[in-house]
Amino acid sequence: MVSEKNRGKLGIALVGLGAYSENQLAPALLQTKHCYLAGIVTRSSEKAARWKREYDIPDENIYDYDNFDSIRDNRSIDIVYIVLPNAMHEEYVVRAAQAGKHVICEKPMALTVEQCDRMIAACKEARKMLSIGYRLHFEPHNLEMMRIGREEVCGKVVRIKAEHGMSDTQGWRIDKALAGGGPLMDVGIYCVQACRYVTGLEPIAVEATETPKTKPEKFRDVEEGLNWTMEFPGGIIAECRTSYSEKQNLLRIEAENGWAELSPAFPYSGIKGKTSGGDLKFPQVNQQALQMDDFALAIKTSRPTPVSGEMGRQDVKILQAIYRAMETGQRVEI
Ligand code: NAD
Repeated sequence: MVSEKNRGKLGIALVGLGAYSENQLAPALLQTKHCYLAGIVTRSSEKAARWKREYDIPDENIYDYDNFDSIRDNRSIDIVYIVLPNAMHEEYVVRAAQAGKHVICEKPMALTVEQCDRMIAACKEARKMLSIGYRLHFEPHNLEMMRIGREEVCGKVVRIKAEHGMSDTQGWRIDKALAGGGPLMDVGIYCVQACRYVTGLEPIAVEATETPKTKPEKFRDVEEGLNWTMEFPGGIIAECRTSYSEKQNLLRIEAENGWAELSPAFPYSGIKGKTSGGDLKFPQVNQQALQMDDFALAIKTSRPTPVSGEMGRQDVKILQAIYRAMETGQRVEI
């Protein structure tokens, strides 16, 4: 039975109740207008009990990974949101689509383009929509950077700097089998996204250099840090950095007649921006609430999502090219 306050909203089930679901998505779903937290998928009975209490989730909307496919029979779940380690995205997106649900998948969409193709195909076949958790497409400072770059507000963009790194990373994120790589997969992807969204263009080629490891025993099979460049049409060069041992958070556009910069550029809140013409003044928003509401509205009104599976696939294609460039020391065309 849907409560009065959730009537008319689409029901979302979160798959994987880790840090992002617990600290960002579930609280955001208390602020959404067009969707709400209807169900959970977890293998932990402790989490199931705690979430049931905290978010008033009925028993019949609580699943584990084994009985997940029976979500097909649950009419109060419209959207399944995959918030699992990267290597598990493909399996759960495909299972969600086959269960007849619309799907949101966290970034990076998958480890390979082939996986992305199978995910897109499964959603198409099921006639369900697929979206990627690119929250910054709903964040006003980043939207303004898109406008400045694409509308050539300070003239043509000449150079971009994008950096995203963090420290103290542990667990599945430094296990190549589950993460697909190191910081490039996890946070460097924001730089790839940003360069694409501020230019509205696709990179032609990449070059990449791994930074020397300061902790080789910890970063055994993934890079600890990576510097790379992307060439865009019109001679635009993007210089990017990512790291699991250094905090970095910057997006800067240099154009013919001025510049614009976000620092920090990518966090959940506290984004700050300035340009050669003055400070950027925009409100802080709940990015995840806006992202999920936009997807719910896209489904309700049958319009495309601005953060599609195809967009996620293109980022994965670029990430793979960056790794190839890192491994070969060669310029890799995309
Ligand atoms: P997390 O480690 O906190 O949670 C992972 C969840 O997956 C846990 O509930 C864990 O129990 C479950 N899980 C199931 N099988 C597992 C396995 N074999 N190994 C490890 N965990 C397993 O991770 P997180 O930070 O919540 O990240 C989850 C996904 O969300 C990732 O794809 C990540 O890139 C993405 N993410 C996106 C953002 C964003 O801003 N869009 C932020 C954080 C994370």
